Amino acid sequence: MAKKERTFAAKLAHESRTSHKETCSVCGKEKVPVIYLAARTGLKDTWRPQRRRVKICDCNRKEIYG
Ligand SMILES: [Zn+2]
Repeated sequence: MAKKERTFAAKLAHESRTSHKETCSVCGKEKVPVIYLAARTGLKDTWRPQRRRVKICDCNRKEIYG
């Protein structure tokens, strides 16, 4: 019981912490965290998408969205 409550509280704390806005020091725009699926090239038979957590701002927006 107590363990569950603590886990829940920890989760809430984590979420509130990750929702904290982060600003890029280069372009000055807000960094938006997204899950980026990147296909690993070079592996023809086993296409394995890579899940990467990236933060997007004006600096790498074109790089991610193409
Ligand atoms: Zn930037």
